[in-house]
Amino acid sequence: MQFITTAFVAALAIHLLLQVWLARRQISHVLGHRAAVPEGFAGVVPAAEHARAADYEAAGQRLAIVEAIVGTLATLALTLGGGIAGVGRWATEIAGGGLAGGVLHVLGVLACLALLDLPFEVYRTFGLEQRFGFNRTSVSTFVLDRVKAWALGLLLGGAVVAVLLWIMAAAGSSWWLVGWAAWLAISLLATLAWPRLIAPLFNRFTPLADADLRGRIDALLERCGFHARSVFVMDGSRRSSHGNAYFTGLGRGKRIVFFDTLLGTLTHAQIESVLAHELAHFRLRHVPQRLVAGAVLSLAGFAILGWLSSRQWFYAGLGVPEPSDAAALLLFMLAAPAFAWLIGPPLAAWSRRHEYEADAFAARHSDGGQLAEALVRLYRDNATTLTPDRLYTAFHDSHPDPVSRISRLRAIGTTAG
Ligand SMILES: [Zn+2]
Repeated sequence: MQFITTAFVAALAIHLLLQVWLARRQISHVLGHRAAVPEGFAGVVPAAEHARAADYEAAGQRLAIVEAIVGTLATLALTLGGGIAGVGRWATEIAGGGLAGGVLHVLGVLACLALLDLPFEVYRTFGLEQRFGFNRTSVSTFVLDRVKAWALGLLLGGAVVAVLLWIMAAAGSSWWLVGWAAWLAISLLATLAWPRLIAPLFNRFTPLADADLRGRIDALLERCGFHARSVFVMDGSRRSSHGNAYFTGLGRGKRIVFFDTLLGTLTHAQIESVLAHELAHFRLRHVPQRLVAGAVLSLAGFAILGWLSSRQWFYAGLGVPEPSDAAALLLFMLAAPAFAWLIGPPLAAWSRRHEYEADAFAARHSDGGQLAEALVRLYRDNATTLTPDRLYTAFHDSHPDPVSRISRLRAIGTTAG
C-alpha cells in the first residue's frame, strides 16, 4: 500500500475516533449535570429547562456521531472505493474530457454528497428540532429551501468550478497562485452580494421600525464611532424559534440584522448590549484578522493542492487511476479535512479570546450586566447547555462556556461600579 493511502486512512480513523470520543464525553458530562442548574443561573434558568437543554444537547451529539461515521464512510467510498473515478468516467461519457466534463465531474460528486446529507437535514428539522419545540419550518418551506439552495449551488458552484478548472488548465505550473487570487476575488464578491442578492431569496428583510430601539442603536453606533448603517429585521421565525443577531456585508454595504425572534424576547437595553458585542468584532479588528487568516490558510491550501496535483501517487494512492484537474479538486476537498482538523482547536481558542474581548468592549460602551442577562435569556431560549465538557469546548467551541463567560461579565460589571 502506498504511503499516502496509509496516512489518509489513519488520519480519517484518528479524526473519527476523536470526534466520537469528544461527543461521548460531552453527552455524559451534560447528562451528569442534568439535575443541577449551575450557580449563578439558578432562579433565572428553571430546573426543567436546564434538563431539557441537556437532553437537546445529548440528542444533537448522538446525531453528530452518526453523521461523522456516515461522512467518513462516504469519504472512503468516494476516494479509495472508486466513487470519484466512477463519476469521472460517467462525466466524460456525457460531456467529453474538456472543461464541461470536468465541471460535470465535480458537480456530480458534490451532488452525491448533498443527497447523502438530505436525510440528516430532514431528521434534524422534523425530528430533532421538532421534538424540542424549535422547528417552525413547514414541509413546503423545507422543500423550497432545498430546491433554491441546490439551484444556487449548481449555478454559483458550477461557475466557481469552471473558473478554477480553466485556470488549472491554462495557467501552467503556478496555476495555484492564480487560482488562489481568483478564489479570494470570488469570496469577496460573494460577501458583497450576499445581503442584497442571496439572503433575500430565503428570508424577508424589513427595516427596523421601532423608533425607540432605532434611537438607542443610532446612539450606540455614534458612541462607538461606527458609521450608521441600515438595520434590518429578518423573519427567522418562519423556520425556527432560535434567535440571533449578526452583521453582514462589507464596507458601505454593511448591515445589521436582527432575527424577529430575538426582538421578541429581549428588552431594548439587552438588544443594545448584544449589538455592542457585535460592533466590537469590527472595532477590535477581529473581522479583518479573521479574513486575513482565512486568506493565508486558503493560500496554504492552494499551494499544497498545486504541489499534489502534479504527483501521480496523489491520484493513484487515493483511488483515482486516471489523473485529471477535476479529480485533483475533488480529492483535495475530500482528503484535506482528514488532516486540516488539526488547526481547528487553535482557531477555536482564538475565537473564544475574541469573544471575551468583545464582551469587555460591550461592557465599556454599553452595559455588561444587560449583556449578561441577554446571554442568559438566549442560552435559555435556545436550550444551549450551560455545562459543556471542558475538552469538548476546548476542541470545538467558538464561544466560551456560559459559566465562565457570564461570571466574567458580572465581574466586569462590579469592578466598573
Ligand atoms: Zn461574538
